[in-house]
Amino acid sequence: MDFRSLIPLTYLIAAVTFVLGLKGLSGPKTAVNGNRIAAAGMLLAVGATFFDIEFQSYGTTGLLITAAGLVIGGAAGFTGARVVKMTAMPQMVALFNGAGGGAAALVSILEVARTASPTGAGALGIASGATATSMLGLMIGAVSFSGSAIAFGKLQGLITPRAFKYSGQQFVTSILFGGMVLLSLLLVASTAGLVAGVPQLAVMTGVAVLALLFGIALVMPIGGADMPVVISLLNAFTGLAVAAAGFTLDNQLLIVAGTLVGASGTILTRLMSKAMNRSIGNVLFGAFGAAPSGGETAGAMRADDGRTVRATTVDDAATLLAYARNVIVVPGYGLAVAQAQHNVRELADLLESRGVNVVYAIHPVAGRMPGHMNVLLAEANVPYEKLMDMEAVNPEFARADVALVIGANDVTNPAARTSKSSPIYGMPILDVDKAQQVIVIKRSMKPGFAGIDNDLYLDPKTQMLFGDAKDAVAKLTAAVKAT
Ligand code: NAP
Repeated sequence: MDFRSLIPLTYLIAAVTFVLGLKGLSGPKTAVNGNRIAAAGMLLAVGATFFDIEFQSYGTTGLLITAAGLVIGGAAGFTGARVVKMTAMPQMVALFNGAGGGAAALVSILEVARTASPTGAGALGIASGATATSMLGLMIGAVSFSGSAIAFGKLQGLITPRAFKYSGQQFVTSILFGGMVLLSLLLVASTAGLVAGVPQLAVMTGVAVLALLFGIALVMPIGGADMPVVISLLNAFTGLAVAAAGFTLDNQLLIVAGTLVGASGTILTRLMSKAMNRSIGNVLFGAFGAAPSGGETAGAMRADDGRTVRATTVDDAATLLAYARNVIVVPGYGLAVAQAQHNVRELADLLESRGVNVVYAIHPVAGRMPGHMNVLLAEANVPYEKLMDMEAVNPEFARADVALVIGANDVTNPAARTSKSSPIYGMPILDVDKAQQVIVIKRSMKPGFAGIDNDLYLDPKTQMLFGDAKDAVAKLTAAVKAT
């Protein structure tokens, strides 16, 4: 049987698995299976490619090099995904995403280089339509590659996460963008026979260099805190670059996969921006959270009207919790940093065994990526029914005896509702301040992601339990047991 005739069918099956995989990823219960289905589809598609006639024309050497790439890449991806900490997930995605963009750019470079004429003289090797898609793939892929590399560097602390601003910045960025687009158009015009004497290889190299510089210039002025949104946007770019590579190589599966990534990346970027009440333009050019005003130590925050922060002890906080009827746990980024999810589950179980009703309030952008809190709490086997979305839980705060805020900050800041001058004004927040009592666990008075002070800490109902989330929750559990 000729396996080659089955390749299109295999690609179709793989494309269906990608769609099913994305559908599965939309809910925590189905996410793991969704991921597996899509991964199996990808393996099938890669396997089928080995039977492709053009691929086979590369001979044994081509086969061995590809197989080696598959093994090395697969092993690196598998190991990386296994060992990465949840809090480091954004930089991991940046790394993978950059690799995808870079690969799409390389495909375009090789396709153009294969047929380009160094002097622009003589017969033109490729059609102008193919050059256009190749140049699109090269530009978007290279921007995504260098932009993701900078995003990774900022998140990993390899380069300063601060927004890098300089005078004439917009001019430089516009020149880089304009230059790469003009050179690409020149190359397309050259392959269409409209302009003669264009050194095609040199022009293509120029486009690649300008696109790489543009990616750097685009991401450097963005504060490290905005990187999750930027990475999601670059992810959408990579999808488009891959789709363009699909057109270049005449490979339908790349077109489908790239389009799916492009669409889902765009939707995710919009969801994140919306949940922060910011436009994508504001993320790219607003330098939000670029220079946190933090640095205060515990107890340092004081309002102009004399209100101060009130610190509490483990025993007092435990007594409040033990005698409450309704407790709402509000997890945030600090819970993820401290890896306190198992301790929180233990505390909730203990409280429930004493007749306290415990639920969890989930803000859509709590943590550093969408679904961060859901994944963390699922890891500790917190029943999914206990997790309440912001819209559902907000009316419940008024009935809660205690809101226990663990490592969450911005998503609880009432300034988003009340202070028009606040950078987070308009961002939907959890109405923690409406609970009867509020206990906040964090290590200091340092601000969170947005770099701003939190009015909640000055509320007379609020008591601060300073300490690492894991340690503090463990001590609370012990104290509740002793109550
Ligand atoms: P946050 O505002 O960043 O605050 C986290 C708090 O956790 C900090 O104030 C920190 O205070 C505390 N913390 C850190 N390590 C801790 C530890 N070991 N133990 C106890 N506390 C610890 O977090 P958030 O309330 O979850 O808000 C998320 C922010 O990220 C929002 O501003 C959102 O817009 C942004 N964002 C989210 C996403 C997403 O998709 N989720 C994407 C982009 C941006 P101390 O240092 O004093 O302990």
